[in-house]
Amino acid sequence: MSLLVVGSVAFDSVKTPFGEADDVLGGSATYFSTAASYFTDVSVVAVVGSDFPDKHLTFLKSRNIDIEGIERTEGRTFRWKGEYGYDLNEARTLDTQLNVFQTFRPKIPESYKNKNVVFLANIDPDLQREVLEQVENPSLVACDTMNFWIEGKRDSLLKTLKMVDILLINDGEARELSGEPNLVKAAGVIHSFGPKALIIKQGEYGALMFKDGKIFSAPAYPLESVFDPTGAGDSFAGGFMGYLSSTMNFEEANMRKAIIFGSVMASYNVEAFSLDRIKSLDYSELEGRFREFRRLTHFEDLT
Ligand code: AMP
Repeated sequence: MSLLVVGSVAFDSVKTPFGEADDVLGGSATYFSTAASYFTDVSVVAVVGSDFPDKHLTFLKSRNIDIEGIERTEGRTFRWKGEYGYDLNEARTLDTQLNVFQTFRPKIPESYKNKNVVFLANIDPDLQREVLEQVENPSLVACDTMNFWIEGKRDSLLKTLKMVDILLINDGEARELSGEPNLVKAAGVIHSFGPKALIIKQGEYGALMFKDGKIFSAPAYPLESVFDPTGAGDSFAGGFMGYLSSTMNFEEANMRKAIIFGSVMASYNVEAFSLDRIKSLDYSELEGRFREFRRLTHFEDLT
């Protein structure tokens, strides 16, 4: 029941066909920890700059997220700028400024060392490993990444993947990482890099899990209004890992349920900019949408 995440805490500037937001709270660790906080205790490792307002840290604390591992240092906070066209599945990155992450050397607090589930959210793979090496023997390690690191730090990323049980990436990233356009074949290549389980997110088309030679397919929740897909992948990961960490059952059947909770969190997240929708949900809303997923995908066997 204790989940540790390392990732970005950021200011995002985002433009979608439905509006835009400048310098709003974002970052992979922020979305992840907020989503996971509905299921379990979460502790964050990250760095922010001197421009980062206390109100954002107060918000994370209000979700019962342990922020002892968020270091504040002189300089500017990580910034990401992206835009989406009507096809909201693909973000176009306009600018990435690593800023304080460029020189960050994570030193995790003593109280974090015995965390038994670790999520390496999207961040420099060198930092992902530095954090992992400081944790004592976790039961489960999962990881996310993106094209920025697949292209810019491939060797380091492959080293990280050797230490990982579950990889969560989107379909474009799976193709790029494996060099294989077919996703079933791509999964085989990625298994050979280390992760025994692979979850491929396909935006509005849902998610696929490849584990123990089996494939599970979940749709995305059909929403009438999608405002901002930023953070969908991280909130999916937060729901997925939060549920796994709260149950400590890593069997395939339970991972299927975790994927549905991931899809539930992602579906709420895209309904508003930044963390506006997922910052204050009721657990009953999560259960309600979980059951709607069941109805959505149920069909009778042949007689
Ligand atoms: P996603 O869940 O894939 O939509 O991730 C969106 C979040 O990833 C945004 O809030 C960004 O701040 C963050 N992000 C974008 N690029 C990077 C990067 N290269 N490293 C770490 N975080 C990033």
